[in-house]
Amino acid sequence: MPFKLKKSRMNINEIDRGKIANKKFGQNFLEDESVLEQIIQAMPDDNLPVVEIGPGLGDLTKKLVQVRQVVAFEVDDRLCLYLKKLFSQEIADGKLQLICGDVLEQWTKGSLLEYSYHLVANLPYYIATTIILKALRDENCKSTLTMVQKEVANKFSALVDDRNFSALSVLAQSAGEAQISLLVPPQAFNPAPKVDSAVLKIQKTDTLKDNRFEDFLKVAFKQPRKTLIKNLSSLYPKSTIETLFQRLALERTIRPHQVETMLYHQIYYELTKEYTYGKESKNF
Ligand code: SAM
Repeated sequence: MPFKLKKSRMNINEIDRGKIANKKFGQNFLEDESVLEQIIQAMPDDNLPVVEIGPGLGDLTKKLVQVRQVVAFEVDDRLCLYLKKLFSQEIADGKLQLICGDVLEQWTKGSLLEYSYHLVANLPYYIATTIILKALRDENCKSTLTMVQKEVANKFSALVDDRNFSALSVLAQSAGEAQISLLVPPQAFNPAPKVDSAVLKIQKTDTLKDNRFEDFLKVAFKQPRKTLIKNLSSLYPKSTIETLFQRLALERTIRPHQVETMLYHQIYYELTKEYTYGKESKNF
């Protein structure tokens, strides 16, 4: 169903969100006023500018521009045109910079912006993990507060020994501290997604710098129910790993989710001292 931006249809309340939503771009518009408000309340209390990825119909953007300088990236041309009109005053006042296009195409180098910022967004779920990992690798990004699929939030925020503790948890803990700020049911959106959602907050204290550590983790967690030794033995001789585990007082039967983040760094460091690992892969 084409979405025409006739002047008579510029009132946001008149828009049929269900009809406008384009699945291809992961469009589930957040309507619940209290959830929007809680996102604003959960923002870090400094004055850094905010990046919003996917402003959609501008409900969160409206609240963000009241409290911060905002740079928003929107891929959907129809929505971009709509937002330009809706926020013409804020754009003219310099409170909002609206960039039309795919944020991933703009984020090819390490940093999305040349200055420090926080990421606050109701993310398109099909690229949420990719975006959060990019933010963890971006030294100008100081924190992320993002609506994601609950399952993804669980993976980023899990603690060691939790069955959700994963490569994503280790990466989040390597960059800072991750926690779920609130759980959000499908009814908070229009159209409602098929999954539960959660607002995930990652307060960064560091930046991910080593792609090879990420690749190492991908192998370490490849078969989560197998032992860590078994998974790592696709990269290094089993005897070397066993000797190292003995030295670190790690059980031979330990599973990937039972190993602390600091130990992953130590295992990686010790093994790469002797062996070079060169394959690159980015999908988790
Ligand atoms: N922020 C709005 C809200 O809370 O209602 C919309 C959120 S909706 C889940 C995701 C938004 O991200 C949509 O507006 C979609 O068009 C946009 N989007 C999807 N892929 C994108 C990309 N690669 N770059 C920029 N925006 C994207």
